[in-house]
Amino acid sequence: MKIHEYQAKGLFRKYEVPVPDGGVAFDVETAVETAGRLSGFPVVVKAQIHAGGRGKGGGVQLARSLKEVDQIVQKMIGTTLVTHQTGSQGRRVGKVLVEEGLAIAEELYLSIIADRSTAKIVVMASRAGGMDIETVAAKTPEKIVKVYINPLDGIRAYHCRQAAYALGLPKEAMKPFLAMLPRLYRLFVDYDCSLVEINPLVLTAGQRLVALDAKINFDDSALFRHPDLLEYRDLTEEDPLEIEASKYNLNYINLDGNIGNMVNGAGLAMATMDLIKRAGGEPANFLDVGGGASTEMVENGFRIILSDEKVKGILINIFGGILRCDVLAEGVVQAAKKTGITVPVVVRMEGTNVEEGRRILAESGLNLITAVDLKDAAAKVAELVA
Ligand code: GDP
Ligand code: MN
Repeated sequence: MKIHEYQAKGLFRKYEVPVPDGGVAFDVETAVETAGRLSGFPVVVKAQIHAGGRGKGGGVQLARSLKEVDQIVQKMIGTTLVTHQTGSQGRRVGKVLVEEGLAIAEELYLSIIADRSTAKIVVMASRAGGMDIETVAAKTPEKIVKVYINPLDGIRAYHCRQAAYALGLPKEAMKPFLAMLPRLYRLFVDYDCSLVEINPLVLTAGQRLVALDAKINFDDSALFRHPDLLEYRDLTEEDPLEIEASKYNLNYINLDGNIGNMVNGAGLAMATMDLIKRAGGEPANFLDVGGGASTEMVENGFRIILSDEKVKGILINIFGGILRCDVLAEGVVQAAKKTGITVPVVVRMEGTNVEEGRRILAESGLNLITAVDLKDAAAKVAELVA
Protein backbone atom coordinates (compact mmCIF):
# COMPACT_ATOMS: atom_id res chain seq x y z
CA MET A 1 0.00 0.00 0.00
CA LYS A 2 1.17 3.49 -0.84
CA ILE A 3 0.38 6.58 1.17
CA HIS A 4 0.68 10.30 0.54
CA GLU A 5 3.67 12.45 1.44
CA TYR A 6 1.69 14.34 4.10
CA GLN A 7 0.71 11.06 5.75
CA ALA A 8 4.28 9.76 5.62
CA LYS A 9 5.44 13.00 7.22
CA GLY A 10 2.88 12.43 9.98
CA LEU A 11 4.59 9.11 10.72
CA PHE A 12 7.99 10.82 10.55
CA ARG A 13 6.82 13.30 13.21
CA LYS A 14 5.70 10.40 15.38
CA TYR A 15 9.23 8.95 15.13
CA GLU A 16 10.85 12.36 15.61
CA VAL A 17 12.32 12.55 12.13
CA PRO A 18 12.47 16.28 11.35
CA VAL A 19 10.08 17.52 8.65
CA PRO A 20 9.15 21.06 7.52
CA ASP A 21 6.29 22.80 9.30
CA GLY A 22 3.06 22.62 7.31
CA GLY A 23 -0.23 20.89 6.73
CA VAL A 24 -2.50 19.27 4.17
CA ALA A 25 -5.34 21.16 2.47
CA PHE A 26 -8.25 19.86 0.42
CA ASP A 27 -9.39 23.35 -0.63
CA VAL A 28 -8.02 26.83 -1.33
CA GLU A 29 -9.28 28.41 1.92
CA THR A 30 -7.53 25.84 4.14
CA ALA A 31 -4.35 26.14 2.06
CA VAL A 32 -4.23 29.93 2.50
CA GLU A 33 -5.05 29.61 6.19
CA THR A 34 -2.24 27.06 6.65
CA ALA A 35 0.23 29.24 4.75
CA GLY A 36 -0.78 32.18 6.96
CA ARG A 37 0.28 30.49 10.17
CA LEU A 38 3.70 29.44 8.83
CA SER A 39 6.80 31.46 9.72
CA GLY A 40 6.93 33.47 6.50
CA PHE A 41 7.68 33.15 2.79
CA PRO A 42 8.41 31.43 0.50
CA VAL A 43 5.81 28.77 1.12
CA VAL A 44 5.91 25.51 -0.84
CA VAL A 45 2.74 24.02 -2.35
CA LYS A 46 3.02 20.32 -3.19
CA ALA A 47 0.49 18.20 -5.09
CA GLN A 48 -0.42 15.07 -3.13
CA ILE A 49 -0.58 12.10 -5.48
CA HIS A 50 0.74 8.54 -5.19
CA ALA A 51 3.56 9.22 -7.64
CA GLY A 52 6.90 10.99 -7.64
CA GLY A 53 8.53 13.24 -10.18
CA ARG A 54 6.24 16.08 -9.11
CA GLY A 55 9.07 18.61 -8.99
CA LYS A 56 9.77 18.22 -12.70
CA GLY A 57 6.08 17.93 -13.57
CA GLY A 58 4.99 21.21 -11.98
CA GLY A 59 3.56 19.63 -8.84
CA VAL A 60 5.90 21.48 -6.46
CA GLN A 61 5.66 25.28 -6.49
CA LEU A 62 7.01 28.14 -4.45
CA ALA A 63 4.69 30.96 -3.37
CA ARG A 64 5.92 34.34 -2.14
CA SER A 65 2.64 35.69 -0.80
CA LEU A 66 -0.77 34.48 0.35
CA LYS A 67 -2.15 35.71 -2.95
CA GLU A 68 0.28 33.44 -4.80
CA VAL A 69 -0.68 30.52 -2.55
CA ASP A 70 -4.30 31.17 -3.48
CA GLN A 71 -3.50 31.27 -7.21
CA ILE A 72 -1.26 28.19 -7.20
CA VAL A 73 -3.65 26.04 -5.15
CA GLN A 74 -6.62 27.17 -7.22
CA LYS A 75 -4.87 25.86 -10.32
CA MET A 76 -3.36 22.76 -8.70
CA ILE A 77 -6.43 21.21 -7.06
CA GLY A 78 -8.55 19.51 -9.67
CA THR A 79 -5.84 19.49 -12.29
CA THR A 80 -4.41 16.30 -13.79
CA LEU A 81 -0.70 16.09 -13.07
CA VAL A 82 1.51 14.17 -15.47
CA THR A 83 4.97 13.11 -14.24
CA HIS A 84 7.38 10.43 -15.44
CA GLN A 85 5.86 8.15 -12.79
CA THR A 86 2.14 8.66 -13.51
CA GLY A 87 1.99 7.43 -17.09
CA SER A 88 0.51 9.62 -19.83
CA GLN A 89 -2.99 9.65 -18.33
CA GLY A 90 -1.66 11.44 -15.23
CA ARG A 91 -3.24 11.70 -11.79
CA ARG A 92 -5.97 14.02 -10.58
CA VAL A 93 -4.81 16.24 -7.72
CA GLY A 94 -7.32 16.34 -4.87
CA LYS A 95 -5.18 17.82 -2.11
CA VAL A 96 -2.01 19.77 -1.52
CA LEU A 97 0.61 19.98 1.19
CA VAL A 98 1.43 23.54 2.24
CA GLU A 99 4.84 23.88 3.88
CA GLU A 100 7.40 26.40 5.00
CA GLY A 101 10.00 26.92 2.29
CA LEU A 102 13.51 26.08 3.41
CA ALA A 103 16.82 27.51 2.28
CA ILE A 104 18.51 24.42 0.88
CA ALA A 105 22.28 24.01 1.01
CA GLU A 106 22.43 20.38 -0.11
CA GLU A 107 20.01 17.72 -1.33
CA LEU A 108 20.87 14.23 -0.08
CA TYR A 109 19.28 10.84 -0.59
CA LEU A 110 18.35 8.35 2.12
CA SER A 111 16.17 5.26 1.94
CA ILE A 112 15.52 1.93 3.63
CA ILE A 113 14.34 -1.11 1.70
CA ALA A 114 14.15 -4.86 2.19
CA ASP A 115 16.65 -6.70 -0.01
CA ARG A 116 15.24 -10.10 -0.90
CA SER A 117 18.41 -11.59 -2.35
CA THR A 118 20.45 -11.08 0.83
CA ALA A 119 17.42 -11.25 3.18
CA LYS A 120 18.67 -8.05 4.77
CA ILE A 121 17.45 -4.55 5.32
CA VAL A 122 19.42 -2.02 3.30
CA VAL A 123 20.02 1.62 4.07
CA MET A 124 20.89 3.50 0.88
CA ALA A 125 22.58 6.85 1.18
CA SER A 126 23.94 9.30 -1.36
CA ARG A 127 25.26 12.84 -1.47
CA ALA A 128 23.74 13.11 -4.95
CA GLY A 129 20.10 13.34 -3.85
CA GLY A 130 17.29 15.31 -5.44
CA MET A 131 15.30 15.09 -8.60
CA ASP A 132 17.92 13.25 -10.66
CA ILE A 133 18.47 10.26 -8.39
CA GLU A 134 17.26 7.87 -11.14
CA THR A 135 20.07 9.12 -13.41
CA VAL A 136 22.58 8.76 -10.58
CA ALA A 137 21.44 5.17 -9.99
CA ALA A 138 21.69 4.34 -13.70
CA LYS A 139 24.94 6.12 -14.60
CA THR A 140 26.97 6.40 -11.41
CA PRO A 141 25.64 3.74 -9.04
CA GLU A 142 28.86 3.94 -7.01
CA LYS A 143 27.57 7.27 -5.70
CA ILE A 144 24.86 5.40 -3.80
CA VAL A 145 26.26 3.63 -0.75
CA LYS A 146 24.44 0.57 0.59
CA VAL A 147 24.63 -0.47 4.22
CA TYR A 148 23.33 -3.99 4.85
CA ILE A 149 21.64 -4.74 8.17
CA ASN A 150 20.78 -8.15 9.51
CA PRO A 151 17.16 -7.76 10.64
CA LEU A 152 17.77 -10.13 13.57
CA ASP A 153 20.56 -7.92 14.94
CA GLY A 154 18.96 -4.62 14.05
CA ILE A 155 20.67 -1.35 13.33
CA ARG A 156 23.95 -0.54 15.16
CA ALA A 157 25.94 2.62 15.63
CA TYR A 158 28.51 1.56 13.03
CA HIS A 159 25.78 1.17 10.38
CA CYS A 160 24.67 4.72 11.10
CA ARG A 161 28.24 6.06 10.91
CA GLN A 162 28.74 4.31 7.55
CA ALA A 163 25.62 6.01 6.18
CA ALA A 164 26.66 9.35 7.69
CA TYR A 165 30.07 9.22 5.99
CA ALA A 166 28.39 8.32 2.70
CA LEU A 167 26.35 11.50 3.02
CA GLY A 168 29.45 13.56 3.80
CA LEU A 169 27.71 15.29 6.66
CA PRO A 170 29.27 18.33 8.35
CA LYS A 171 30.00 18.10 12.08
CA GLU A 172 26.86 19.97 13.12
CA ALA A 173 24.60 17.49 11.32
CA MET A 174 26.40 14.34 12.52
CA LYS A 175 24.73 13.91 15.91
CA PRO A 176 21.19 14.62 14.69
CA PHE A 177 21.67 12.12 11.84
CA LEU A 178 23.04 9.38 14.12
CA ALA A 179 19.98 9.87 16.33
CA MET A 180 17.54 10.02 13.43
CA LEU A 181 18.53 6.96 11.39
CA PRO A 182 17.73 4.36 14.10
CA ARG A 183 14.31 5.98 14.52
CA LEU A 184 13.69 5.77 10.79
CA TYR A 185 14.77 2.12 10.90
CA ARG A 186 12.37 1.51 13.79
CA LEU A 187 9.54 3.02 11.76
CA PHE A 188 10.43 0.72 8.85
CA VAL A 189 10.31 -2.37 11.06
CA ASP A 190 7.37 -1.37 13.27
CA TYR A 191 5.07 -0.85 10.31
CA ASP A 192 6.30 -3.66 8.04
CA CYS A 193 7.32 -1.18 5.37
CA SER A 194 8.72 -2.24 2.02
CA LEU A 195 10.18 1.22 1.42
CA VAL A 196 10.94 4.35 3.40
CA GLU A 197 12.51 7.02 1.23
CA ILE A 198 13.61 10.59 1.86
CA ASN A 199 14.55 12.34 -1.36
CA PRO A 200 15.73 14.91 -0.79
CA LEU A 201 16.94 14.84 2.77
CA VAL A 202 18.16 18.41 2.94
CA LEU A 203 20.87 20.17 4.76
CA THR A 204 19.61 23.70 5.25
CA ALA A 205 21.73 26.82 5.08
CA GLY A 206 21.76 26.63 8.90
CA GLN A 207 23.15 23.03 8.73
CA ARG A 208 19.85 21.55 9.90
CA LEU A 209 18.81 18.13 8.53
CA VAL A 210 15.19 18.01 7.34
CA ALA A 211 13.18 15.40 5.40
CA LEU A 212 11.87 17.57 2.57
CA ASP A 213 10.08 14.70 0.88
CA ALA A 214 8.72 11.47 2.37
CA LYS A 215 7.66 8.26 0.74
CA ILE A 216 6.51 5.10 2.52
CA ASN A 217 5.21 1.85 1.00
CA PHE A 218 3.81 -0.92 3.17
CA ASP A 219 3.86 -4.66 2.67
CA ASP A 220 0.21 -5.49 1.90
CA SER A 221 0.55 -8.97 3.38
CA ALA A 222 1.30 -7.44 6.79
CA LEU A 223 -1.44 -4.79 6.75
CA PHE A 224 -3.64 -6.90 8.99
CA ARG A 225 -1.15 -6.18 11.78
CA HIS A 226 -1.64 -2.44 11.41
CA PRO A 227 -5.33 -1.55 11.54
CA ASP A 228 -4.30 2.06 12.26
CA LEU A 229 -2.91 2.32 8.73
CA LEU A 230 -6.28 1.64 7.12
CA GLU A 231 -7.36 5.26 7.51
CA TYR A 232 -4.39 6.22 5.30
CA ARG A 233 -5.72 4.27 2.34
CA ASP A 234 -6.80 6.67 -0.41
CA LEU A 235 -9.25 4.94 -2.72
CA THR A 236 -9.21 7.86 -5.18
CA GLU A 237 -5.60 6.87 -5.97
CA GLU A 238 -6.51 3.27 -6.72
CA ASP A 239 -7.97 1.62 -9.80
CA PRO A 240 -11.79 1.27 -9.37
CA LEU A 241 -11.78 -2.28 -10.78
CA GLU A 242 -8.95 -3.28 -8.43
CA ILE A 243 -10.90 -1.85 -5.46
CA GLU A 244 -13.94 -3.87 -6.55
CA ALA A 245 -11.81 -7.03 -6.90
CA SER A 246 -10.23 -6.55 -3.47
CA LYS A 247 -13.72 -6.72 -1.90
CA TYR A 248 -13.89 -10.38 -2.96
CA ASN A 249 -10.26 -11.25 -2.17
CA LEU A 250 -9.48 -11.69 -5.85
CA ASN A 251 -5.88 -11.24 -6.97
CA TYR A 252 -6.62 -8.81 -9.76
CA ILE A 253 -4.35 -6.28 -11.46
CA ASN A 254 -5.59 -4.05 -14.23
CA LEU A 255 -3.25 -3.85 -17.26
CA ASP A 256 -3.17 -1.95 -20.56
CA GLY A 257 -4.10 -4.61 -23.14
CA ASN A 258 -7.49 -5.74 -24.49
CA ILE A 259 -7.62 -9.48 -23.69
CA GLY A 260 -9.25 -10.14 -20.34
CA ASN A 261 -8.21 -13.35 -18.69
CA MET A 262 -9.42 -15.41 -15.81
CA VAL A 263 -7.11 -18.09 -14.48
CA ASN A 264 -6.70 -20.12 -11.30
CA GLY A 265 -3.26 -19.99 -9.77
CA ALA A 266 -0.76 -17.13 -10.01
CA GLY A 267 1.83 -19.19 -11.88
CA LEU A 268 -0.71 -20.37 -14.45
CA ALA A 269 -1.91 -16.77 -14.79
CA MET A 270 1.64 -15.59 -15.54
CA ALA A 271 2.11 -18.40 -18.07
CA THR A 272 -1.22 -17.58 -19.68
CA MET A 273 -0.25 -13.94 -20.05
CA ASP A 274 3.04 -15.01 -21.65
CA LEU A 275 1.17 -17.16 -24.16
CA ILE A 276 -1.26 -14.38 -24.98
CA LYS A 277 1.72 -12.12 -25.69
CA ARG A 278 3.43 -14.79 -27.75
CA ALA A 279 0.26 -15.14 -29.81
CA GLY A 280 0.47 -11.41 -30.53
CA GLY A 281 -2.13 -10.27 -27.98
CA GLU A 282 -1.97 -7.96 -24.97
CA PRO A 283 -3.48 -8.96 -21.61
CA ALA A 284 -6.00 -6.51 -20.12
CA ASN A 285 -5.54 -7.85 -16.63
CA PHE A 286 -4.02 -10.38 -14.32
CA LEU A 287 -6.63 -12.37 -12.41
CA ASP A 288 -5.94 -15.32 -10.20
CA VAL A 289 -9.29 -16.50 -8.87
CA GLY A 290 -7.44 -18.72 -6.44
CA GLY A 291 -7.47 -22.38 -5.58
CA GLY A 292 -10.51 -22.59 -3.35
CA ALA A 293 -12.65 -20.09 -5.24
CA SER A 294 -16.43 -20.34 -4.84
CA THR A 295 -18.99 -19.89 -7.61
CA GLU A 296 -19.54 -16.42 -6.21
CA MET A 297 -15.87 -15.45 -6.47
CA VAL A 298 -15.68 -16.70 -10.05
CA GLU A 299 -18.87 -14.78 -10.84
CA ASN A 300 -17.45 -11.56 -9.38
CA GLY A 301 -14.14 -12.00 -11.17
CA PHE A 302 -15.82 -12.58 -14.50
CA ARG A 303 -18.19 -9.66 -13.93
CA ILE A 304 -15.22 -7.36 -13.25
CA ILE A 305 -13.53 -8.42 -16.49
CA LEU A 306 -16.79 -7.98 -18.42
CA SER A 307 -17.23 -4.46 -17.01
CA ASP A 308 -13.77 -3.40 -18.21
CA GLU A 309 -14.45 -1.30 -21.31
CA LYS A 310 -11.11 -1.95 -22.96
CA VAL A 311 -11.65 -5.73 -22.99
CA LYS A 312 -12.33 -6.96 -26.53
CA GLY A 313 -12.03 -10.68 -25.86
CA ILE A 314 -11.74 -13.00 -22.86
CA LEU A 315 -9.72 -16.10 -22.19
CA ILE A 316 -10.77 -18.40 -19.39
CA ASN A 317 -8.02 -20.84 -18.54
CA ILE A 318 -8.77 -23.19 -15.68
CA PHE A 319 -6.90 -26.20 -14.50
CA GLY A 320 -9.38 -27.80 -12.13
CA GLY A 321 -7.57 -28.99 -9.04
CA ILE A 322 -8.99 -27.67 -5.83
CA LEU A 323 -11.18 -25.33 -7.86
CA ARG A 324 -13.56 -27.70 -9.65
CA CYS A 325 -14.50 -27.08 -13.27
CA ASP A 326 -18.23 -27.23 -12.53
CA VAL A 327 -17.88 -24.49 -9.89
CA LEU A 328 -16.04 -22.35 -12.43
CA ALA A 329 -18.65 -22.99 -15.13
CA GLU A 330 -21.49 -22.12 -12.76
CA GLY A 331 -19.80 -18.82 -11.85
CA VAL A 332 -19.24 -17.90 -15.49
CA VAL A 333 -22.86 -18.62 -16.37
CA GLN A 334 -24.18 -16.60 -13.42
CA ALA A 335 -22.04 -13.58 -14.29
CA ALA A 336 -22.90 -13.81 -17.98
CA LYS A 337 -26.64 -13.89 -17.19
CA LYS A 338 -26.39 -10.79 -15.01
CA THR A 339 -23.95 -8.72 -17.04
CA GLY A 340 -24.36 -10.05 -20.56
CA ILE A 341 -21.44 -10.96 -22.79
CA THR A 342 -20.68 -8.68 -25.72
CA VAL A 343 -17.18 -9.95 -26.55
CA PRO A 344 -15.91 -13.38 -27.66
CA VAL A 345 -14.99 -15.75 -24.81
CA VAL A 346 -12.55 -18.62 -25.31
CA VAL A 347 -12.56 -21.37 -22.69
CA ARG A 348 -9.85 -23.87 -21.95
CA MET A 349 -10.68 -26.13 -19.07
CA GLU A 350 -9.10 -29.33 -17.77
CA GLY A 351 -9.09 -31.32 -14.56
CA THR A 352 -11.54 -32.14 -11.80
CA ASN A 353 -15.16 -32.44 -12.94
CA VAL A 354 -14.30 -31.21 -16.42
CA GLU A 355 -17.19 -33.11 -18.08
CA GLU A 356 -19.70 -31.57 -15.71
CA GLY A 357 -18.16 -28.13 -16.33
CA ARG A 358 -18.35 -28.53 -20.09
CA ARG A 359 -21.97 -29.69 -19.84
CA ILE A 360 -22.94 -26.61 -17.78
CA LEU A 361 -21.30 -24.30 -20.33
CA ALA A 362 -22.79 -26.16 -23.32
CA GLU A 363 -26.32 -26.09 -21.88
CA SER A 364 -26.09 -22.45 -20.81
CA GLY A 365 -26.89 -21.17 -24.27
CA LEU A 366 -23.87 -18.87 -24.06
CA ASN A 367 -21.80 -18.38 -27.16
CA LEU A 368 -18.45 -19.70 -25.95
CA ILE A 369 -15.51 -20.86 -27.99
CA THR A 370 -13.75 -23.95 -26.69
CA ALA A 371 -10.07 -24.62 -27.14
CA VAL A 372 -8.22 -27.93 -27.14
CA ASP A 373 -5.23 -26.70 -25.16
CA LEU A 374 -3.68 -23.55 -23.74
CA LYS A 375 -1.68 -22.63 -26.83
CA ASP A 376 -4.74 -23.07 -29.02
CA ALA A 377 -6.78 -20.93 -26.59
CA ALA A 378 -4.27 -18.08 -26.63
CA ALA A 379 -4.04 -18.16 -30.43
CA LYS A 380 -7.84 -18.15 -30.80
CA VAL A 381 -8.44 -15.22 -28.46
CA ALA A 382 -5.57 -13.18 -29.96
CA GLU A 383 -6.98 -13.74 -33.43
CA LEU A 384 -10.51 -12.80 -32.38
CA VAL A 385 -9.52 -9.41 -30.96
CA ALA A 386 -7.04 -8.59 -33.74
P1 GDP B 1 9.20 14.90 -6.11
O1 GDP B 1 9.79 15.57 -7.31
O2 GDP B 1 7.82 14.38 -6.40
O3 GDP B 1 10.09 13.86 -5.53
O4 GDP B 1 8.97 16.06 -5.01
P2 GDP B 1 10.00 16.62 -3.87
O5 GDP B 1 9.24 16.75 -2.62
O6 GDP B 1 11.23 15.81 -3.80
O7 GDP B 1 10.34 18.08 -4.39
C1 GDP B 1 11.04 18.30 -5.59
C2 GDP B 1 12.03 19.41 -5.47
O8 GDP B 1 11.38 20.64 -5.10
C3 GDP B 1 13.09 19.21 -4.39
O9 GDP B 1 14.16 18.39 -4.83
C4 GDP B 1 13.54 20.65 -4.13
O10 GDP B 1 14.54 21.02 -5.05
C5 GDP B 1 12.29 21.47 -4.41
N1 GDP B 1 11.70 21.89 -3.12
C6 GDP B 1 10.80 21.24 -2.36
N2 GDP B 1 10.58 21.91 -1.20
C7 GDP B 1 11.39 22.99 -1.21
C8 GDP B 1 11.66 24.06 -0.28
O11 GDP B 1 11.13 24.14 0.83
N3 GDP B 1 12.57 25.03 -0.68
C9 GDP B 1 13.19 24.98 -1.88
N4 GDP B 1 14.06 25.94 -2.18
N5 GDP B 1 12.99 23.99 -2.75
C10 GDP B 1 12.10 23.00 -2.44
MN1 MN C 1 11.30 13.65 -3.96
